[in-house]
Amino acid sequence: MADQEPGSTADQPAQLSDGLAAGFPAGPLGGPVAAPPVSPSVDPPAEPASALAGQPDGFERLWVPHRMAYIGGEARPADGTPAACPFCTGPTKPDSEALIVARGQHVYAVLNLFPYNPGHLLICPYRHVPLLTDLDQTEACELVTFTQHAMRAIVQARGPHGFNLGINQGSAAGAGIAAHLHQHVVPRWKADSNFFPIVGQTRALPELLGQTRDAIAAAWEDTAC
Ligand SMILES: [Zn+2]
Repeated sequence: MADQEPGSTADQPAQLSDGLAAGFPAGPLGGPVAAPPVSPSVDPPAEPASALAGQPDGFERLWVPHRMAYIGGEARPADGTPAACPFCTGPTKPDSEALIVARGQHVYAVLNLFPYNPGHLLICPYRHVPLLTDLDQTEACELVTFTQHAMRAIVQARGPHGFNLGINQGSAAGAGIAAHLHQHVVPRWKADSNFFPIVGQTRALPELLGQTRDAIAAAWEDTAC
């Protein structure tokens, strides 16, 4: 599975409401009346995407339920050192901030900041090593156990029809962050691709990452490893 593999969206339809579909009555001359005023909200300051775990790819993200907004700044780490590595710095932050779903003794599960689908997790060792063959037996066993647990939690939280699992080894194989091993766990739904990735280099994602993290983290507690 290449990181740049074209992709996937959930089976929920995109809700690109322009107000006309929301049941507003017709105004003069048949046009729509203004939508009711919306309470002002204050968004927290945006955090640089490079500080969070995930792999940049060629796609922009359209976070459909909140508002039409493109999330940019998909910067890659400055170098291959642990100090610049989001998979090393992520576990130093609180779970909700780092989008970490669960922590084990040797590995942890984190939402991909650049998901193919809602619930796209990465299983990472804490050690900054590039290859599966760099793991000792204990780490390798927990990587597989966490992958199983992630699948069960995602099934409980989101009910996918299938999964893609994969590890890209080396930048030549498509690894976005080749210096730190990570196992992709990508939930799939029947007919979960649509035209967005093809025509707009954009993936439509029907929920925010924080919502996905909360749901899978709760399911993680309810499912056996
Ligand atoms: Zn690292």
